[in-house]
Amino acid sequence: MPTSSPVRGRLAALTAPAELVRPEGGKVRCVACGHRCLIGEGHEGVCRVRFVSDGVLRVPFGYVASVAADPIEKKPFFHVSPGATALSFGMLGCDYKCPYCQNWEISQTGRDPEADEFARPRRTSPEELVGLAREQGATMVTSTYNEPLITSEWAAAVFRPARAAGLLTSYVSNGNGTPEVIDYLRPLVDAYKVDLKAMRDEPYRSVGGRLQAVLDTLRLLVARSFWVEVVTLVVPGFNDSDEELRDAARFLAGLSPDVPWHLTAFHPDYRMTDRDATGLRSLLRAVEIGREEGLRYVYAGNLPGRVGDGETTRCPACGTVAVERRGFRVLANSLLPGGLCPGCRTRLAGLWTVEEALAARPDPSPGPKLTPSSASA
Ligand code: SF4
Repeated sequence: MPTSSPVRGRLAALTAPAELVRPEGGKVRCVACGHRCLIGEGHEGVCRVRFVSDGVLRVPFGYVASVAADPIEKKPFFHVSPGATALSFGMLGCDYKCPYCQNWEISQTGRDPEADEFARPRRTSPEELVGLAREQGATMVTSTYNEPLITSEWAAAVFRPARAAGLLTSYVSNGNGTPEVIDYLRPLVDAYKVDLKAMRDEPYRSVGGRLQAVLDTLRLLVARSFWVEVVTLVVPGFNDSDEELRDAARFLAGLSPDVPWHLTAFHPDYRMTDRDATGLRSLLRAVEIGREEGLRYVYAGNLPGRVGDGETTRCPACGTVAVERRGFRVLANSLLPGGLCPGCRTRLAGLWTVEEALAARPDPSPGPKLTPSSASA
């Protein structure tokens, strides 16, 4: 790894050999994210944190850049163990370069010299993180803050003992995946949040991604029975036309009407300060579009207490309130055991308790968690 800055020199020591890699024509092909970088000796991938040294792809390992006990609703997962705590950890680096990133201090390491100033990697072990999760009363361990796909080997090392200890595991990700990384994660990850940033290729190109890679990943995640929730930050002039939002809603409803869609309000941040925050009307219009297109669970985020029932889970069959929230707080959870509606006993899609989530794991109890759209007319 080039060591042009002190932080990159320090990071080079905090690595392990990659598992998501294959040799190709004298170089190595990284398959951890949709960029699929072909990397030669002495070079690094687009993410700047995976690099080839002595013929081996070295990847981030054995540290965290940030760790906190967060409400699970902050990830956001609204249909997984409501009110639970998620021990959240992040490393450094990202395969994207979003100008509105809220975690740019850790995600843009190696790409933005200002971010390098903030980088404080702290050595740790999977066992220490699992111990911390227990100490904090967490029921989930989450790889978040930076893009988890690019540090999947470390997440795997943490998730193995976490799962053995009865903890749930999750990814909070941009969804720029590959079939290889999804297969790798399937035995290790219960819940997967995907940030669907737009429904056009141009905005995706502007942040360093490709729309198709994210759509393919979403399809695969649902087909492989991960519990999936999707977030779209509604950014004025970037992705907020009715037409584009409708296309996104249609796509998600086509995967499954049970995929929760979180529409969150943008605030000017990092390098995107040239436009206003998302207005309340605009956010509520987006929620309406999601519902019109057949999604059963559409939420409005980042404007707590101002979005009517945009933070509430209602039974899609009879409309009874099942879970009431304000911001990241659960005010009331009226679901009956098994995720049943308290009004009509319809089952609401989700991993509502830890026990339910453990029983839904692919090994030894396979079973789809989302209703395929073809069976939901
Ligand atoms: S994680 Fe993605 S960006 Fe990084 S080296 Fe691998 S393919 Fe390239």
